[in-house]
This record gives sequence, C-alpha cells and structure tokens, in this order.
Amino acid sequence: DENTGERLGESDLGPEIEGLIVTHYGTQVMVENPAEQTLKRCHFRSNLGGLVTGDRVIWRDGNPYGVVVARTERDSALMRPDPYGDLKTVAANIDRIVIVIAPYPEPHFNLVDRYLVAAESIGIEPALVINKVDLIDDDQRDKVERIHALYAGLGYTVILASAKRDEGLLPLREYLAHYTSVFVGQSGVGKSSLVNALLPDANSRVGALSEKQTGTHTTTSAQLYHIDTGGDLIDSPGIREFGLWHIEPEDVLAGFKEFRPYIGACKFRDCSHSHEPGCAILQALDDGEISAGRLAGYRRILADLHPGRSGY
Ligand code: GDP
Ligand code: ZN
Repeated sequence: DENTGERLGESDLGPEIEGLIVTHYGTQVMVENPAEQTLKRCHFRSNLGGLVTGDRVIWRDGNPYGVVVARTERDSALMRPDPYGDLKTVAANIDRIVIVIAPYPEPHFNLVDRYLVAAESIGIEPALVINKVDLIDDDQRDKVERIHALYAGLGYTVILASAKRDEGLLPLREYLAHYTSVFVGQSGVGKSSLVNALLPDANSRVGALSEKQTGTHTTTSAQLYHIDTGGDLIDSPGIREFGLWHIEPEDVLAGFKEFRPYIGACKFRDCSHSHEPGCAILQALDDGEISAGRLAGYRRILADLHPGRSGY
C-alpha cells in the first residue's frame, strides 16, 4: 500500500532498530528497545500479518507512535483455536514450558502427559514444578513421589517448590535464566503465586492481568516480563491453560519421548500399538523400556482426540 508510509508519517520516523513485543492491544503493540530498556507503542504494517507477544521485530521510532517494519522468523509459536476453530498464534519464541502441579488440587498423570505432549509437539522443552510441597501429606506423598520419579526418570527437569514458603525458587530461577518461559497448569496449583514470587516488581501487573479478565473490558493479551535474576516470562490467562487446546493426533506418539525410538518399527504401518503382532511399542512395554502408565496415557489422549473411535 503506497499510502501506508504517508499515513504513518514515515518521513518523521527514526532509524531501524531491534525490538521485542511485550504485549499488544488490537491494532497496536508495545515494543521494547532492549538496548535502552524503553517501551514504545507502535503501529505495524499490515503485510507483517499478526504480531504477538515475544515476537522479535525491527521498528522505527516516531511521534506519537513508532512503526514496526519487519518481524524476525519465529523459533516457536503457541497456538490456540479461536471461537471459530481456526488456530491463532498467541505468543512467540518461547523456549520453555513450565508445567505446574501440586498435591492439592490433586495431580493427574494424564493431565501432565497432555501438557508434555502439547509442549513436545511444538518443540519446546517442558519441565515440571511440583509446587505446594508444604502441603504434601500421607494421602498424597506416594503419588507425588511416583510423579517425581516417573518424569525425572524420563529426563525432564523436575523442581520441588513452595511459593508460600519460598522454597525451590532458587533452582527455578536458575532453570528460567537466559530463556523465555510460560507457566501452565490446572487452576489453583499456584501459578500466579510462583509468577509473583519471581517478579516482585510486577506483583500488581500480574494481579491486574487477572482482574482485567473478570472485568467487562476483557483483555487476554499475553504480557512479557523480565525476571530480575535473568530470563523472561510470558503470561496470560489463556496461556496458563495451554496444553488442553490443540494437539494433532499424529503428534501424540512422538510427544511421549521415550516412545520415539520405536516409531516406524512396528510390523504394520498403521499399527495402533494396542494388540498387533510385531508391535515395537508393545515389545518395549514387555521389555520394561516404557511404562504401562504412559502407554495408557497415550491411549487416553488419543481416545479424547477421537471421541467414539475404538481400537486405541
Ligand atoms: P493458580 O490458579 O495456579 O494461579 O494458583 P494461585 O497462585 O492463585 O494459588 C491458588 C491457591 O494456592 C492460593 O490460595 C495460594 O495462596 C495457594 N498457594 C500457592 N502456592 C502455595 C504453596 O506453595 N503452598 C501453599 N500451602 N499454598 C499455596
Ligand atoms: Zn505398534
């Protein structure tokens, strides 16, 4: 559009500089100039498609608004279906997905597996935080220990924490340093509490985020925060639910990372890994290389994706 430059007052714009999208409002974005730690509200050219929190961009300063002129290719993208079922990107360039569970509300292996599969399917490293360790009692101790042993045994980082008692926050900070992360998990496990503990200065901002969601002026736009000890967090009510959004059925098997060596090794190309002779997955189960619980989790997730279809 030849008029775009004119309309945006392009002649008054500064030189091209690098920036980071820290949040967006409809047709505008808030861009951070990482070199100077300043924020600027910007328009963006329509040929960029959408811009989302976490996008790395090239922009030019202007008055009153700057203009984003280019977007760097995304390393990763979190997507969720919009009300019409179309996938919509909600955050970009995430390196780590922190799955938070707690003794209460009671954790479910299957829910953890779903979050893991969702993270693995978009190539982002997941980790597990077991929060509220101060609440571990005789009812939940065994289960929490089994969860810890299973996922740590699969090679995932597992961090025990208590946002309330300020425990485990140091290893969590170390894990998050130098990366961009999101926190996900069931409601009530302590995600806001952990985020607030990591961002003492942003306390009110995180609170404001949840308040806005309940108000009439709903904004679910994700916000990017810097952790003072290093690393960034991207947070929004929508992202916290990530994992229950969208998984392609063909990605589920590879989402169970210990199953990967056996993919393509079954006798039948369309093996459902449930009863077929020559099934490499069932053989691995027999050999103790994969656990019955994880195989059951795989079947459950597939069944949820194909309601009414049997054979899984
Ligand atoms: P979210 O829904 O995952 O964001 O969870 P919240 O951070 O809102 O926490 C839910 C409840 O658990 C709140 O009442 C918190 O005070 C409480 N909570 C959070 N972390 C801990 C913890 O480590 N120990 C205990 N005992 N309670 C916690
Ligand atoms: Zn098979």
